[in-house]
Amino acid sequence: MQRAKRILVTGGAGFLGSFLCERLLGEGHEVTCVDNFFTGSRRNVSHFLDNRSFEIIRHDVTFPLYVEVDEIYNLACPASPVHYQFDPVQTTKTSVHGAINMLGLAKRVRAKILQASTSEVYGDPEIHPQTEDYWGRVNPIGPRSCYDEGKRCAETLFFDYWRQHRLRIKVARIFNTYGPRMRPDDGRVISNFIVQALQNEPITVYGTGQQTRSFCYVDDLIDGLVRLMQTDDDVTGPINLGNPVEFTMLELANLVIELTGSRSTIKFMPLPIDDPKQRQPDIGSALHEFNWRPKTALRDGLAKTIAYFESLVSSKHLRSTAAE
Ligand code: NAD
Ligand code: UDP
Repeated sequence: MQRAKRILVTGGAGFLGSFLCERLLGEGHEVTCVDNFFTGSRRNVSHFLDNRSFEIIRHDVTFPLYVEVDEIYNLACPASPVHYQFDPVQTTKTSVHGAINMLGLAKRVRAKILQASTSEVYGDPEIHPQTEDYWGRVNPIGPRSCYDEGKRCAETLFFDYWRQHRLRIKVARIFNTYGPRMRPDDGRVISNFIVQALQNEPITVYGTGQQTRSFCYVDDLIDGLVRLMQTDDDVTGPINLGNPVEFTMLELANLVIELTGSRSTIKFMPLPIDDPKQRQPDIGSALHEFNWRPKTALRDGLAKTIAYFESLVSSKHLRSTAAE
């Protein structure tokens, strides 16, 4: 096993962050989780709260943070359109001020730092599949811009700190990822469809349902983040991480209905503004640089995710947050 490190995970009480903390603790590291609990919760990390190598701090990354660590994974930021559009100014601050604060921390303690960037930096793409050298097509003034442009600016800051201060940086462009511990009211498509199907409520397909996404199971994604962090210092990214198998939202809806055995029907609803038409990662760089490719087929990942939401079915939480 590698030497135990002190690792900071911002957004560590969220969906991806909690799995990342768990993986790093499992490898014997000391993990400090920082979160303001906007979309994350203590429940996500409750099963390792008493691990002596784990520490949780309630903190907003838009304010400076002083801790001593060897590595930083910067995940703090709401990822669901519903949540990041709730307070768009705070979303931009989280990405931009959060990046400045975490990069400043990394500079002071000479830590290696990884940024959880996103496929949203490609916007509504003109090239397909998306490669890392594509600069993207992003609306700078729309309802998604607080997230997309905030993440783009964070990438700029990461590369300026790399050029200017020789900081050791890693930038991962994460494509749609799903799995257990997504909130029932998260608002993203997989959790919405599963919650609706389990309650035999109409499945809300936006637009015609012909828009596509490529869905990566959480375990695969976390493995990609950890492998990227472990690469040599000359590997900065940006590197796409996602599952390249592409589905239309209508195909996804039908698959969820089949796997849950639901009586739900499909209800077509208006397409949100600036909703990207297609999304598929080219993962050649991740394969080449650290031999990573996802292993979990959508059908298998969905089965595990459905089992998680089924366990919530009887709980008050799921009934009170039934998807609109
Ligand atoms: P999530 O909403 O479950 O987790 C985000 C976490 O960040 C939450 O715990 C939230 O409370 C915390 N947070 C938000 N603002 C904060 C702030 N100002 N200070 C401290 N903590 C704050 O979302 P997720 O899916 O786990 O996403 C994690 C990261 O990965 C995000 O940066 C997101 O942009 C990125 N990402 C995720 C996906 C995906 O499909 N899941 C895709 C692309 C990028
Ligand atoms: N979507 C949908 N029904 C829902 C939620 C989302 O049809 O109940 C669609 C949405 O319009 C988009 C796709 O599913 O085309 C993925 O949406 P999500 O919010 O999960 O992620 P993102 O748009 O950020 O990729």
